[in-house]
Amino acid sequence: MSETHSGCGGRLQIVRGDITECAVDAIVNAANTSLLGGAGVDGAIHDAAGPELLDECRTLGGCPTGSARITRGYALPARHVIHTVGPIWYGGTNGEDELLASCYRSCFALAEQHGLRTLAFPSISTGAYRFPVQRAARIALNEIAQGLERLQTIASVIVVCFEGRVYDAYHDALNANAP
Ligand code: ADP
Repeated sequence: MSETHSGCGGRLQIVRGDITECAVDAIVNAANTSLLGGAGVDGAIHDAAGPELLDECRTLGGCPTGSARITRGYALPARHVIHTVGPIWYGGTNGEDELLASCYRSCFALAEQHGLRTLAFPSISTGAYRFPVQRAARIALNEIAQGLERLQTIASVIVVCFEGRVYDAYHDALNANAP
């Protein structure tokens, strides 16, 4: 992990790195509605967790866009994986903003139910699903700030950016929101 930037009273960190290496209570997976694995961060998480993760995902019966499901983390350093399904970008007039916000809210709701204190998020929807990254970063940071405000039991949230352009967008969005 490198190039750390922090906000929300030190409870939010933006880092460049690989989410599969994060030793947190739960890492979030940007999954698809089948929950049966895909490319990008989903593929990396399944590769690192091992085949038992897919076995558990098969029992879940999929997940609608904007919602989330939780599993164990298996061989990952993270104890759990929260699988959420981001919207595919169709130009911005198909409820994409609200669905993306709903992903973050659904993850915080699961964190609350399961008493999780440390979370790591990837940049949901900004890879294969083509959501514009600046817009996604604003929505993500707004929802994370609200989640941290509402749930004081959460000690830390890390946004893990795999690509430089994504890290830059989150960094800029955090600075734009700073008081
Ligand atoms: P989506 O289908 O939701 O767009 P992707 O996995 O294609 O999901 O991309 C979401 C984001 O995850 C992208 O910004 C991509 O760079 C990032 N990503 C890919 N691999 C990793 C990883 N190992 N750790 C963190 N982020 C990752």
